[in-house]
Amino acid sequence: MRNLNRIWIHIGFDALRSAFNLILLVVISIFLSTPFGAEDSKLIVFDKTAYLQSIKKDPNRVLIDLESIPEIVLDIRYASENNFTGQVIYNRGKAFARKRVAEALRNAQIEFLKQGHSIQIYDAYRPYQATVKFYEIIKDTRYVASPKTGSRHNKGCAIDLTLVDKNTKQSLQMPTKYDSFEKAAWANAPVSDPVTKQNRDKLIEGMSRFGFRVNKTEWWHFDFLDCSGYEVLDIPFEELEDDDLRKYK
Ligand SMILES: [Zn+2]
Repeated sequence: MRNLNRIWIHIGFDALRSAFNLILLVVISIFLSTPFGAEDSKLIVFDKTAYLQSIKKDPNRVLIDLESIPEIVLDIRYASENNFTGQVIYNRGKAFARKRVAEALRNAQIEFLKQGHSIQIYDAYRPYQATVKFYEIIKDTRYVASPKTGSRHNKGCAIDLTLVDKNTKQSLQMPTKYDSFEKAAWANAPVSDPVTKQNRDKLIEGMSRFGFRVNKTEWWHFDFLDCSGYEVLDIPFEELEDDDLRKYK
């Protein structure tokens, strides 16, 4: 009986040891198959070919030229030197966003027009290469998106904008200039001038009614709430003007 017990203890111990070895093997293989900086491997960047395939499958993913929105004003800063980098980043002053984002923006614009204002866009879809360039210049992810993750601008799902007077196209006074790194640029920063505060709050409230959320540290940056299924894109503006894309618009 004592011997039998010993055999059972032995079998139990062996089973435990093989189970442990198996777990160890699984852990090691998971560790080895996950490269360091796993974030890099997760980022999928679509070029024009991959983008064309994706919009064939789902036409809602198409990028729409935002100049098709009534009376919209464009002031694409990265197509000039008048931006935080002091360099021309885009070779064209264009604004694009995914179809559903563009439709929501159109609805917001219709409401703003009724109030005597118009949306002025500073930046919309941003080719991934521009995000890489921003990071090379600034090298601080507190101020620019990390190339490891990209930004919602790269997905055609974020827009930087302000309000102008519908008739004069004069900008409404806002707490700071576009792309300011000051604390006053925070969406909930205290504002001493009541008109400036009213303008900022009108912009944020107006956009939030149509599915956009303001960025905490940038009163001008609005993310569309549902960006699911939108990949990071790296298609220069000139390629978006190609004929094979027009048929989707
Ligand atoms: Zn932005």
